[in-house]
This record gives sequence, C-alpha cells and structure tokens, in this order.
Amino acid sequence: MANPSLLILPGDGIGPEVMTEVRKVIDWMATKGTTFDVSEDLVGGVAYDAHGTPLTDETMERAQGVDAVLLGAVGGPQYDTLDFSLKPERGLLRLRKEMDLFANLRPAQCFDALADFSSLKRDVVSGLDIMIVRELTSGVYFGEPRGIFEEGNERVGINTQRYTESEIERVARSAFELARKRQNRLCSMEKANVMESGVLWREVVQKIGDTEYPDVELSHMYADAGAMQLTRWPKQFDVIVTDNLFGDLLSDLAAMLTGSLGMLPSASLGLPMANGRPKAMYEPVHGSAPDIAGQGKANPIACILSFAMALRYSFDMGGAADAVEGAVEKVLADGLRTADLIGEEGRAPVSTSEMGDAIIAALD
Ligand code: NAD
Repeated sequence: MANPSLLILPGDGIGPEVMTEVRKVIDWMATKGTTFDVSEDLVGGVAYDAHGTPLTDETMERAQGVDAVLLGAVGGPQYDTLDFSLKPERGLLRLRKEMDLFANLRPAQCFDALADFSSLKRDVVSGLDIMIVRELTSGVYFGEPRGIFEEGNERVGINTQRYTESEIERVARSAFELARKRQNRLCSMEKANVMESGVLWREVVQKIGDTEYPDVELSHMYADAGAMQLTRWPKQFDVIVTDNLFGDLLSDLAAMLTGSLGMLPSASLGLPMANGRPKAMYEPVHGSAPDIAGQGKANPIACILSFAMALRYSFDMGGAADAVEGAVEKVLADGLRTADLIGEEGRAPVSTSEMGDAIIAALD
C-alpha cells in the first residue's frame, strides 16, 4: 500500500520554526516503521514574495491531491498594506473554501501540569478533554440577504442565518464519527427555542443519530445554556457539535479554559475522498507571532498536537497520536516550559528546538 501523503505548508513568522519540530516527530515515526510521503510548499506572505500570490494554483492542486495538509501560520506586518485579495490570510481561506472543509475541530484539552494556567479552578479543568465541532462554511456568516440597507429614515444591518438539511447532515456525521473515536457521546447545541434554523438543526441531528449512529449517546442543549455549562463543569461533555456562529464563540471559550495559545491545535475536515479519508487540513490555532519570530521562543506544542490530530483523524493511527500526546504530557510534567508557559514559577524557559527535542526523547 502507498505511504500516507502529507503536504506541509509552514507559512510565515513562527510557522517554519514550529514546523521544524513537527518534522522531528515525522522523522521519529519513520524510524519506527511509519513513513509519510512528505512534500512542502509555500503559503501566505512567503508565497506572495515568491509568486505574487498567497497561494498558487499549483499549490492548491497539490493540497487537493494529498491525504492531509499541515499548515503552520500565515501573516505578518509587512503584508498589512497589500490589497485584500493578496493578503496572506487569503491563501488560508482559499484552501478551506476549495477543499470544502466544513467541519472545524477544536479540542480543549487540559494537561495536568498546566491546570493552574486556566482562569477556572484546577479541579474543574484538570484532565479536561473535549472536542468542539463547528460548522465552518455556512450559517449566518454566509447567508443572504446580508448588508447595510436604508429603511425609512435610518439604516438597518442584516445577516441571515441559513442552513440546508444537507449542510447540517454532513457536519453531524463528522461529529458522530468523532464521537465514535472518543467516548461515544455527542451534545448538539443550537437555539431551537427561538430560531427556526435551530429547530431544523435539532431535528436533522436527531434523525442522523437515530438512523445512522444509534450507538452514540446524543443529547441537545440550547447554546446559551451550553456556554454556562462549559464554564461550570466542562468535563460533562465529550464531543459538541454546533453551527458556525455559536461554534465560533463556544470553541474560543472552551479553548481558553486550558491556558496558552501556544498549546491549541485544530483540524478542518471535509467529505471523504475516494480512499475513505476525509479531506483535511491541520493547523495550530495561533498566528505567525511576528513579535517572537526568529528568536527560538515559539511553543511548538500546538503544531505538534495538530499533527497528532492528523494521525488520529486522517490516518487512523490513534496509538501513535496517544504516544505523541503522552510525550507532550510527560515533558510538561517534567517541568519544561517555553516562554509563553512561564507563569509566576520563575523557571528558565526552553527554546522551540529544546522543546521539540524533549518531546522526541519522551517518545523514545
Ligand atoms: P498570534 O497568534 O500570532 O499571536 C498572539 C500572541 O500570542 C503573540 O504575543 C504571540 O507571541 C503569542 N503566540 C502565538 N503563538 C505562540 C506560540 N506558538 N508560542 C508562543 N507564543 C505564541 O496573533 P496576532 O499577533 O493577532 O497575529 C499575528 C499575525 O498572524 C497576523 O498577521 C495575523 O493576521 C496572523 N494570524 C494568522 C493565523 C493563521 O495563520 N491561522 C491565525 C491568527 C492570526
């Protein structure tokens, strides 16, 4: 069988620095008998510098042809004055749009050693491991009509929440599949009490659950109550599925339960390809961090955990994903901290590459 294929797009700022550490994990896996066909290309500001566009058609085509894309970060102050269509972020948006990545996975996982970083009490967040699936390509951010219109003697701002049954069905299926790979529990959140789109959302998710995933325990919650429950006792959840707007808010809320931006991975999934794997792009939540780029200060863990998500969700290598996450847990428990994780403990920070090397040593 062919090796699984990966396209690496390091991007700008700290993107290449954190991706170098992911490469170490990929090389380590090769020594254990799992080899990926890895190719690398440009996205964002570096692509603009080389080709005058943040993503060439050739790179887009390569992204469509691999099993998974792994992206670092894009952007930087030197590109801020570019025309909107040429900005580094447009490269990222084009990838998401043309690959039709409609399910955005944002885990909120709290490593025990970092529990005191959370704004919540240690016992509320310690050991937390939940996953929010946000619908990414429809809903109120895209619905028509939209705009600012004149109405009588004042203006009115309009956005439209709109979901088709098939849009709800496909993201629900992604969430049910994930739940099956985790604790087999799914909570769907909407506002069916006040929104027709929420009524339809609830009906469709329930139908998919009843007909295709009767083994997954399904519950429903109003999204505002969900926000309260996420801060009150987040460990009650396993997988949460919700729409674009509520998911935007709830995933940021849940992610911050766990501490630093340098720790947060994400995945965006689309429909299954001919080989059964979903179209997929994995990336850290953080940006290109121009304030620390080139100084060896970046925390590579978010990007390494994004690769662990690729192992689990694209390549069915749950054991390897557990090993990578376990190695991260171990180095943190051993007291290693990049600069962003230094609180009031007064430890000396380790560099990006020292953190990567320590994770490899822990894997060994
Ligand atoms: P940012 O995430 O780059 O940085 C915010 C803060 O967090 C900075 O102080 C930074 O030093 C710190 N930080 C981020 N990642 C870190 C890491 N791995 N280790 C240690 N510290 C880390 O957000 P920003 O400053 O608002 O944006 C900078 C640039 O990145 C902008 O051009 C923005 O458009 C772009 N951006 C890109 C993405 C993406 O590529 N997905 C996401 C957000 C922002």
